[in-house]
Amino acid sequence: MPGVHPPDPADASASACAVCGRPWPDEDDGRGWVHLEVTRSDEAEGLRFLDADFCTQQHAAQWLARPLPDPASAAPSAATWGDRLAAAWVVLLVVLTAALTGLGLWTAGGFVLGLL
Ligand SMILES: [Zn+2]
Repeated sequence: MPGVHPPDPADASASACAVCGRPWPDEDDGRGWVHLEVTRSDEAEGLRFLDADFCTQQHAAQWLARPLPDPASAAPSAATWGDRLAAAWVVLLVVLTAALTGLGLWTAGGFVLGLL
């Protein structure tokens, strides 16, 4: 293992420049390698990260000057039947709790009034 290059140059897709597509280890023996990690905030999902490798700093600058590509986005989260069932269960528990509380107050009230 050469140990000269930063992360896995064996993986062709991981070692390709995001601008010119050439493997960055080929360019000046990987000396100009630049790695960028862009962090953005997303209201729905919190922080989102985007990683890219470049053969030179110039290509990194070009890439950063463009509109950023969408980070790998998770599938849109539609409410599943499990979610709806859980929500319905919570509503049922709240209604049951309210009903039992009312019944308890009614009974306690009747008991107190019966004592008087
Ligand atoms: Zn490049």
